[in-house]
Amino acid sequence: MSDKVVTRFAPSPTGFLHIGGARTALFNWLYAKHTGGTMLLRIEDTDRERSTDAATAAILDGLSWLGLTWDGEPVSQFERAPRHRAVAEELVRMGKAYYCYATPAELEAMRESARARGLPPRYDGRWRERDPSEAPAGAKGAIRIKAPADGETVVHDLVQGEVRFPNKDLDDFIILRSDGNPTYMHAVVVDDHDMGITHIIRGDDHLTNAARQMVIYRAMGWDVPSMSHIPLIHGADGAKLSKRHGALGVEAYRAMGYLPEALLNYLARLGWSHGDDEVMSIADMIAWFDIGDVNKGAARFDFAKLEALNGVHMRRMNDAELLDIFINTLPYLEGGPAIAARLDDTRKAQLLAALPGLKERAKTLVELADGAAFLFAERPLPIDEKATALLGGEAREILRGAHAALEAITGDWTAEAAEAAIREYAVARGHKLGAVAQPLRAALTGKSTSPGVFDVLAVLGREESLARVADQID
Ligand code: GLU
Repeated sequence: MSDKVVTRFAPSPTGFLHIGGARTALFNWLYAKHTGGTMLLRIEDTDRERSTDAATAAILDGLSWLGLTWDGEPVSQFERAPRHRAVAEELVRMGKAYYCYATPAELEAMRESARARGLPPRYDGRWRERDPSEAPAGAKGAIRIKAPADGETVVHDLVQGEVRFPNKDLDDFIILRSDGNPTYMHAVVVDDHDMGITHIIRGDDHLTNAARQMVIYRAMGWDVPSMSHIPLIHGADGAKLSKRHGALGVEAYRAMGYLPEALLNYLARLGWSHGDDEVMSIADMIAWFDIGDVNKGAARFDFAKLEALNGVHMRRMNDAELLDIFINTLPYLEGGPAIAARLDDTRKAQLLAALPGLKERAKTLVELADGAAFLFAERPLPIDEKATALLGGEAREILRGAHAALEAITGDWTAEAAEAAIREYAVARGHKLGAVAQPLRAALTGKSTSPGVFDVLAVLGREESLARVADQID
């Protein structure tokens, strides 16, 4: 056997790829990348009622957006049912599992009596030692695994440490239902074995399943993969993550204007750290990540931190790359499609030129789109409330002079030339620079905040700038 690490992400396609699932995928991916291994993808679609193709598509889309690539084709758990069945039958032949013909009424009575004695409901093993010839005629029977009755099962977990489960708590659970369908518990083990998974990294809500799954591995004589059960994400208030806290599908984060890299950085830092490093590139995370360094305490999701981190990633990203991501994200952003529709080569160049100023003022791509809206606005510009206030009183008179000063520029239309003209005009009329710059900004952008007003003039160009100012004079 080679030592190559093989991890897997195994979502159930009953909903979107939510933020907790994305973090599980990320840890599997980082660990595979860090060790030079591979990450496989398995769609756990055995629950036919709750699994949908739309959910599978949303999960693949979410992973792709985040750049969490998997190796090979996704595996459908449902399609492997014949193999799960074969393994269950093999366990029966090996004497490690047996057919159980207990009726629903008998099982209910067992549960009832356990409840009455204050015990957890458990199968009493009534078919464990019976001869198959005693099977009721025509009955199908479910297959149950023979779980060890005493001693303990120990899960050696890289995150949780050594977790001990007394075997008296593990009953002979069903691996194949009487309708011939495998149980989830059994399917996971057979799939992980057949896919050659060396490291299972998943939410700690699966920790108790791990003990049961080990029973199946041992019965088949298979190696138990390394296990890591990572803590779930909680809300900032410590409560279980709900929609209000950010338990949304990853596509909601795309629509809120977060960069994949920033979201991954944020998710990686939830429960894992590398010294004092807060801001990490994907390459940094791959270089530094080790599953054994993940904390076992619950991590808390904090929108404000995510937003701040996103702003940092936007500012440190090179402009061409940020522009690319921005353009690709436009279809998903509020107001984005309108921008996308007007994005010709000229505007792309303007946007690129304005980006250094724009990204200083934006923490998300939504804010970036908002800041860039002036480039795409049609004259006469919609003027927001604060900008309207800046255009009242003597502002109109000031603008008239500014317009004349700008119009008089004869050389190249640059930020420097515009600044020189406006400064000269302000000094000549005894205006403070701000008294000129503010109404000028309002006229050029329709807003009270924007990148530096001289940069705005340069990006818009002579004709458009003069026309926008003129619109506010007449
Ligand atoms: N399908 C399970 C889930 O979505 C994961 C099972 C596993 O990782 O073993 O929670």
